[in-house]
Amino acid sequence: MLKKILVPNFMVTSVADIDLARLRKLGVRGILLDFDNTLVRWNGSSLPNAIAKWVKAAKEAGFSLCIVSNAITRRLERVAKRLGIPFVPQACKPSPIGIYRALKRLCLQAYEAVMVGDQLFTDVLAGNCSGLHTVLVRPPKLYEQWWMKGVRYLENLITKYTPRLQAAC
Ligand SMILES: [Mg+2]
Repeated sequence: MLKKILVPNFMVTSVADIDLARLRKLGVRGILLDFDNTLVRWNGSSLPNAIAKWVKAAKEAGFSLCIVSNAITRRLERVAKRLGIPFVPQACKPSPIGIYRALKRLCLQAYEAVMVGDQLFTDVLAGNCSGLHTVLVRPPKLYEQWWMKGVRYLENLITKYTPRLQAAC
């Protein structure tokens, strides 16, 4: 059970690598995006061009998008404005509160949405427990708080014994 709720449907190295056609085939209409280490580098606000382009393509393809972040920062507001998508701050992941707020805002059912994020114990757990599809973003190099090392160690243990995590989107 624990294994199941900690296993994402897909794993990618960047949001820009997510195949929109494949999401569409799964019946996905809405994309919920984590913020730090997913859209921007941890504690950063500079949006990589490839990700901005991917968001634009997703919007043009008819997907509804929303940033769902545990953060409450001006950075979040600025990036959401730049991308022209709504955001839910203080999402309290892994609780489903923020995800439900985002789904309500996008007028979608859980099975029509995907949660995309870099952490198993917040993004993937919250997404799976709420009935969404999930994509784990694992950049080759992570910059974050020193204490995240322990969390990443545990995540890597799970990744190691979870073959499905190796699937590419
Ligand atoms: Mg994150």
